[in-house]
Amino acid sequence: MPKDDNYLHKGLRKQLVQVLRDKGIKDERVLAAIEAIPRHFFLDPAFERQSYEDRAFPITAGQTISMPYTVARQTELLELKKFDKVLEIGTGSAYQACVIAQLGYTLFTIERQRALYDYVGQFFFLKNFPNIKRFYGDGFEGLPSYGPFDKILITCGAPFIPPKLVEQLKTGGIMVIPVGDDGKQQMLRITKQADGSLTEENMGAFSFVPMLQGKNNR
Ligand code: SAH
Repeated sequence: MPKDDNYLHKGLRKQLVQVLRDKGIKDERVLAAIEAIPRHFFLDPAFERQSYEDRAFPITAGQTISMPYTVARQTELLELKKFDKVLEIGTGSAYQACVIAQLGYTLFTIERQRALYDYVGQFFFLKNFPNIKRFYGDGFEGLPSYGPFDKILITCGAPFIPPKLVEQLKTGGIMVIPVGDDGKQQMLRITKQADGSLTEENMGAFSFVPMLQGKNNR
């Protein structure tokens, strides 16, 4: 059932945007998208009052919705440009997907957990975003028939840089990927050069649920 987005929620979102600014987010378009998307729609009603705190929360199937700071920072690092085609690995709650879709981009997103993929399919708010294309599958494989992509965003902790995703990245394209294990990763921004080589920038430590191999059909 559609939920209500009232002045209180909107006020809390303004405060959240200020928190993100104070933490160093500079991209005004990203901040505007965070201010526009009702994050409380994506959370269990039990957490509604805390929806606009800058923290991660559990969602269904043992997964999490990322912290707003992390969502904002990853989006900012993508340096999105007009007509970019974006691939996201780890749909989760679809909050990150909606932030990118709110900016007007076409966003392809993959989730490996069937239960979560189905759950998000029932979510009324996604009807606002026909530019989100959802897939149930293994992010290590990417979406070869829809690529190549201008930008690729991984929202789970990757054990290594998946070679197939590098193949599906355009020349000049950017991949933002947290690499590492044990809930602690380094956020890498990878740019694919004309000769196919990769340049790597380390954007610091973050914490994500792991990127796991294969699909989970339960
Ligand atoms: N972007 C999400 C973050 C969800 S947490 C959000 O805004 O809510 C990370 C998600 O990545 C989880 O839902 C997890 O199931 C998914 N995931 C982990 N490994 C994956 C893989 N190999 N392919 C696709 N999704 C994967």
